[in-house]
Amino acid sequence: MRIARFASGDEVGFGLVETDSDSGEEFVARLSGHPLLGDIKLTGERAKLSDVRLLSPVLPTKVVCIGKNYADHVAEMKDITGESTEEPVVFLKPSTAVTGPHDPIFHPETSERVDYEGELAIVIARPCREVPRERVKDVIFGYTVANDVTARDLQKRDKQWTRAKGFDSFCPMGPWITTGLSIEEAQDLALTTTVDGETRQDGRTSQFIHDIPGVIAHITSFMTLLPGDVVLTGTPAGVGPVRVGQEVAVTVERLGTIRNRVVSRD
Ligand code: MG
Repeated sequence: MRIARFASGDEVGFGLVETDSDSGEEFVARLSGHPLLGDIKLTGERAKLSDVRLLSPVLPTKVVCIGKNYADHVAEMKDITGESTEEPVVFLKPSTAVTGPHDPIFHPETSERVDYEGELAIVIARPCREVPRERVKDVIFGYTVANDVTARDLQKRDKQWTRAKGFDSFCPMGPWITTGLSIEEAQDLALTTTVDGETRQDGRTSQFIHDIPGVIAHITSFMTLLPGDVVLTGTPAGVGPVRVGQEVAVTVERLGTIRNRVVSRD
């Protein structure tokens, strides 16, 4: 299933994204209830996908991020973050950084260099802590696409990453949550990032240093994850800057594309 959160007129709700078998056109079938509470029903209402505004598919209490999870990216980042470590590097983005799959990324005036980081994102299904590797599949609701936007100069200057990673709009997410993928399938997806149509990142989730069960087991060894919380799994090589006016698109195979223009606040 592909579960989107969307706005249409004055209403915000969840819907299943489906393709009409006759016309090939995509539409959203409105759901009642909340998908993470498991009480969803189709209302019978539907709208063309192109007629609704897609929102971030979840509102997480926190976004937990893994750094340095692709060997080729670790190599390119050595000067900023040091060598890779045995345990996954974990940091947070505030919930207020989350924005929709087609919303603008606001370029802060305090940064000279804002970078994209295309990432596979995991959406958590239920409250969980101390999850052993073999039970990780039970706590995953689905997968989506995210951009871990980073003010690279501030990351370097501040030594820790809260400001660099935490600006409003620095976590575009979507276009919807895809359910039904096994962990094995999620760990073998192509991930590409383009800037104004030019390819900048071209990786595969099979290149993870720390796999999905390892990442979730590690995070929940010290932090409770709640339904709708999102885990970003790290970015492949090819990170680089985006300027005001440019459009950055992240695509993960089978999950879709998010596309965000970088704008100034004024
Ligand atoms: Mg990242």
